[in-house]
Amino acid sequence: MTSEKNEHGVVMVGGGLAAQRCAQTLRKQGYEGPIRIVCAESVAPYDRPPLSKKYLSEGEEGPDVALKPDDWYVENNIELLLGKSAAGLDPVAHLVRLEDGTELSYDRLLIATGSQARHLPALAGFSNVHSLRTAGDSRRLAAELGQGGHLVLVGSGFIGQEVAATARAFGDQVTIVEAMSSPLEHILGAEVGNRLGRMHLERGTDLLTDAMVETASGNGRVEELCLADGRRIDCDTVVVGIGVRPSTDWLDGSGLEADGILTDAGARTGLPDVYAAGDVTRSLDPRTGKHTRSEHWDSAVRQGRAAALSMLGQPAPEPALPSFWSDQYGERIQYVGHAELSDRVEFEDHDDGLNFTARFLRGERLVAALAVGQPRTIAKAGRTIEEHHKSEAEEKGSPK
Ligand code: FAD
Repeated sequence: MTSEKNEHGVVMVGGGLAAQRCAQTLRKQGYEGPIRIVCAESVAPYDRPPLSKKYLSEGEEGPDVALKPDDWYVENNIELLLGKSAAGLDPVAHLVRLEDGTELSYDRLLIATGSQARHLPALAGFSNVHSLRTAGDSRRLAAELGQGGHLVLVGSGFIGQEVAATARAFGDQVTIVEAMSSPLEHILGAEVGNRLGRMHLERGTDLLTDAMVETASGNGRVEELCLADGRRIDCDTVVVGIGVRPSTDWLDGSGLEADGILTDAGARTGLPDVYAAGDVTRSLDPRTGKHTRSEHWDSAVRQGRAAALSMLGQPAPEPALPSFWSDQYGERIQYVGHAELSDRVEFEDHDDGLNFTARFLRGERLVAALAVGQPRTIAKAGRTIEEHHKSEAEEKGSPK
């Protein structure tokens, strides 16, 4: 993509991690044309992982979550259109329509609108029911922690687990209500899920599994949750962490997929000059040949960079293995690989057995690993998994 007079340049819709990394890569690679980032939030791109961890416990006194200082956007000639939502896309005319009626023409478009928290209709309208996606959500929730109340987390995904750990550090009573038999069972299986569950129980968090919230009662604030099996739980604050859905409503009628935009390894969508990166995508994993949603930091960074390189006509690097981390009770949990390909799991216990390494195997081949409190293990496991993928691809006679 060369820089020409009167060019429309690159428009990015969504101003989170993926967009920021795409803009940074474009400038680093020498692109000099216009870059505009449109974002529904009224602050410059910031980092979300601290929102359930340090930022939740320390607030604005705590970590600076801005991905870059405001000056960086000025110095790099990147225009931020903040507090503005995109409402439609005309891919033929190369136009993005904003909610206020403004139309933005683009030469290349990056869709990076991320994802939004799923809600439980039974809990709608209560003022003490929270979800956690933005810095504002984190500050509102923080105001309810550390008061000696009872916090109930609906869902034991990473956000639910991290908020539980943060609230326990304040000394709050914490209960996790989980519909499955153990945390993250659908991704990591029951054996790993049970060990993660044990970690919470040992730290004083109550964990109710095979439990579904059915109704809630209270006057403006939820005071009691009623489970499908008839159990009742008193509560002061509720956090719903039952997953996210891609923010694609504004793309209705554009031809792009509502349940996660399909992209190739270079972040290209099915529409000309339209790229997508981050939580909003279902991106092609060349190792499995499948399009998968990955709602993790590493993917947003990689896909944001890949989109920039593709826009410039440069080859995008081979996508890294899926990976994520989570911080809970002072320990780092790290994961790499494809647990869904495994047929068994082997465990290695460390210290008191709460810290462990899980090796997901298919036959004798390592396909994924998860480690609690063992930072070096995962990098090594990642290299082994990659080597296996390469030798398997060579055996099949494909270049990779
Ligand atoms: P986002 O960062 O969500 O940015 C999307 C932006 O687009 C938002 O600002 C949104 O308001 C805006 N937007 C949406 N619709 C529109 C529209 N129509 N018009 C304009 N703008 C719009 N990952 C890990 O690997 N490890 C962790 O420990 C971890 N912790 C996390 C903790 C929390 C609380 C959260 C919320 C996420 C965490 N993640 C973690 C996930 C990681 O932060 C996300 O994968 C990453 O932020 C995705 O980046 P993104 O750019 O795709 O989307």
